[in-house]
Amino acid sequence: MALTGLDIFKKLPKTNCKDCGQSTCLAFAMAMTTGKASLDQCPHVSESAREEIDAASAPPVALIKIGTGDKAIEIGNETVLFRHDKRFEHECAIAVSVCDNMTDIDIIARAKKINSLVFDRIGQLHSVNMVSVCGCSGSAGRFAEAVKIAAENTDYPIILKSEKPLFIEKALEIIADKKPLIYCADAVNYKEMTELAKIHDLPLAVRGSDLNELVEVVEKITALGWKRIVLDSGARNTSEVLDDQTQIRRQALKKYRPLGYPTITFASSSDPYQAVLEAGVYIAKYAGIVVLDSVDPADILPLITLRLNIYTDPQKPIAVEPKIYEILNPGPQSPVFVTTNFSLTFYCVAGDVEASKTPAYILPVDTDGVSVLTGWAAGKFTSEKIYEMIKSSGIEDRVSHRRVIIPGGVAVLKDKLQELSGWEVLVGPNESSGITKYLKNSALFYSR
Ligand code: SF4
Repeated sequence: MALTGLDIFKKLPKTNCKDCGQSTCLAFAMAMTTGKASLDQCPHVSESAREEIDAASAPPVALIKIGTGDKAIEIGNETVLFRHDKRFEHECAIAVSVCDNMTDIDIIARAKKINSLVFDRIGQLHSVNMVSVCGCSGSAGRFAEAVKIAAENTDYPIILKSEKPLFIEKALEIIADKKPLIYCADAVNYKEMTELAKIHDLPLAVRGSDLNELVEVVEKITALGWKRIVLDSGARNTSEVLDDQTQIRRQALKKYRPLGYPTITFASSSDPYQAVLEAGVYIAKYAGIVVLDSVDPADILPLITLRLNIYTDPQKPIAVEPKIYEILNPGPQSPVFVTTNFSLTFYCVAGDVEASKTPAYILPVDTDGVSVLTGWAAGKFTSEKIYEMIKSSGIEDRVSHRRVIIPGGVAVLKDKLQELSGWEVLVGPNESSGITKYLKNSALFYSR
């Protein structure tokens, strides 16, 4: 539970010296609770008080960074069990595996395939995030070589997957500066693995044979002074993984520290359809990383779409910029559609206009990213706002006619908009899927 201002105040020196810029220690404590001050601004707080406040104010799930550069990922920092309670902070990273048994040429080809797994969804680019190199060959030298080849051919962060400290050590001689994730420490090797993580300042995945053993190993590793941890409960059966993932998140939110870290999961079924289903379950239920063995876009795209749905902030709808959008190179006689700037709505309209093969303009009105009927009900999609958009967008200079098509669901706006703008207002279909038929019936108005 978060500390109150009074809790923080009790741990401060209470000298009211003002060195922090606040008039009193109490004012400083209150400013901390709202994020307007940070403990670093008080130079007089004792080390023990600092540790207590830091521990109490730390997020229930630690934030872990993996990799470097603009492809580095962050996982964890989560604060809720359900997305609708607030939001999920960091989306699940999707990792694709590479095996050191593969030939060099195959590793290069696979890395390139992984790099190509980038998809445009509602105007945003989404991709996989990591490459997991597993040491199946039984040779530390080959593992290091495979890691080197993979790292040379992708910018994604690497997971070094081997239980053998020697393998990890050899690989780290090559790519420690890329800040990979070490997978994994367990009840047998945790001392050596923790040492490697500490030497190179790297995140360390910890695996138990079950949750109890996981807690024991994590406690041993934190006692050695390392807290950059990613959890693996060891379960591989989907329902057991789901149970463990849920338990880990629940206990983390209760501030049970040994489980207060993000998790890594593996979609391990040899049936590719089943593996995608597994990965979907883990993405939906709290995985920080899901590793799978497929580079087939048909497997990856549904997972990325699912992730996008789950990790979108429900308080911030995805919106497109309110401006003129041209579909199929329109001209002065092309129709003008009005809709809202909710991404999903806009891309449905854009896709259906394109499918109609009719060049057209689309004006998405700024409704703070909400859909047509929600925007109308909230007073954000009104005749006045559409009129403002017509005036400010410059569409009057692009078309020689004065006709605008509004969504059928807001036909009620027609008369007022006509009165304000002087444009002829045509009521389009209720659903964008009706645009093709609508335009065919409106062929008299427009030359294509
Ligand atoms: S610097 Fe520390 S001791 Fe001084 S007023 Fe601020 S909180 Fe109090």
